[in-house]
Amino acid sequence: MKVKIIGGGLAGCECAYQLLKRGYTVDLYEMRPTVTTPAHKTERLAELVCSNSLKSVDPATSQGTLKEELRLLDSMLLRVAEETCVPAGGALSVDRDAFSSRVEKELFALDGLRVIREENSVIFDDAYDYTVVCAGPLCSKSLADAITTLQTDCLHFYDAVAPIVTAESIDYDHAFFAGRYGKGGDDYLNLPLNKEEYEVFTEELKNAEKVILHDFEKGDVFEACMPVEVMAQRGKDTLRFGPLRPVGLTDPKTEKRPYAVVQLRKEDREGRMFNLVGFQTNLKFGEQKRVFGLIPALRNAEYVRYGVMHRNTFINAPVVLNEDFGLKANPSVFFGGQISGVEGYTESIMSGLFCALNIDRRARGKESFVPPETTVCGALMRYIATPNKDFQPMHVSFSLLPAITDIRDKKLRKEAYGKRAVADMKKYIEENQ
Ligand SMILES: Cc1cc2nc3c(=O)[nH]c(=O)nc-3n(C[C@H](O)[C@H](O)[C@H](O)COP(=O)(O)OP(=O)(O)OC[C@H]3O[C@@H](n4cnc5c(N)ncnc54)[C@H](O)[C@@H]3O)c2cc1C
Repeated sequence: MKVKIIGGGLAGCECAYQLLKRGYTVDLYEMRPTVTTPAHKTERLAELVCSNSLKSVDPATSQGTLKEELRLLDSMLLRVAEETCVPAGGALSVDRDAFSSRVEKELFALDGLRVIREENSVIFDDAYDYTVVCAGPLCSKSLADAITTLQTDCLHFYDAVAPIVTAESIDYDHAFFAGRYGKGGDDYLNLPLNKEEYEVFTEELKNAEKVILHDFEKGDVFEACMPVEVMAQRGKDTLRFGPLRPVGLTDPKTEKRPYAVVQLRKEDREGRMFNLVGFQTNLKFGEQKRVFGLIPALRNAEYVRYGVMHRNTFINAPVVLNEDFGLKANPSVFFGGQISGVEGYTESIMSGLFCALNIDRRARGKESFVPPETTVCGALMRYIATPNKDFQPMHVSFSLLPAITDIRDKKLRKEAYGKRAVADMKKYIEENQ
């Protein structure tokens, strides 16, 4: 069986390894160095485009649990990351050159691989049994054009995401459920601010530290969506007449219209995560925690994901993909990595790995390999394939897993999420060899 992979980044390399290990022939198309992206600097496979950190290894975090699950699934890139790590406290950080060169060495040691240094934009290719698109957030234009022909509204080019916080970390003494003008039931959670709180908040917002955008991101992202801090700079009342407008809302505590209101909307059906409506932001993550923490209800907020604004090519996964990363419209095509709707280095590795496992399952006439929703991999796979009209790429998060409600202590509850996930992944692997 012959598989084509487009893109030799994190997802493409993991996918190639898993297929080669199972005896498949792989043609890996990587366009660098002939054509490059605005963020890559080398011609290496599996180049880390920015930070050298693959985040936490603590098993009581979703990132630590993801690593444990990937270890059980024999992820090559995770193993190489651990072998090339540099000291970084509780995080897995790597020597980026050693990481890329070790990944290349591992791949070239296996039979059946051809690395073709060419841009490729043929999604449906009769020369192959399967094609996996792993072209990343900076996918080439010709390939992006080919993807847009698959279906209407199937490819997005920017991530302008407002922060998402966990429901359990909100202080409900400073919040009330209500729709504007009584419409929409209890769909929105409103966080009222008095005049003084609003003024302190907007002042800090104006002066907070921002992420410096790459040149290729400057105009386009801002045109698409104005960050909340830029609105604050436009005038002291701009936010009060914009996303923080209080009209149509009455605080049941004071029975008055608040001076300003931050609205939160449920991010998932169960209401375990909330999105800060209209809070697209380019502030540094630490600054988001500090400045948004000035909103009384968010003093101790835990962030499932911080707001980001950057160039990010990703498909509308709930519309076009199955849970196993396969294209709904064609059983021989898969999408892996950031372009499939996951977010982050380790998540991209995971997605590439699952593309390979599911190609192998399909080729052998077996059911898809989709672990239970209690695992962090299984939960993220379900998230990307669940209908969502505001779909944005997502990290792993315990908030995506079925809730554990009988453990009150936060630390113990997180440990329980991690332990349950790993145990269920082990069981699923044993039962689905
Ligand atoms: C600027 C930037 C910074 C980021 N920083 C971080 C970070 O610090 N931490 C984090 O966890 N995540 C970060 N991400 C998000 C994401 O996790 C990484 O982009 C990650 O590398 C995604 O892995 P991937 O395999 O999907 O894509 P990539 O690693 O980008 O690999 C895609 C590959 O496909 C190639 N390619 C594209 N089109 C074609 C084509 N038509 N033909 C052949 N080859 C093609 C590209 O050259 C590239 O090598 C960042 C993203 C961006 C854009």
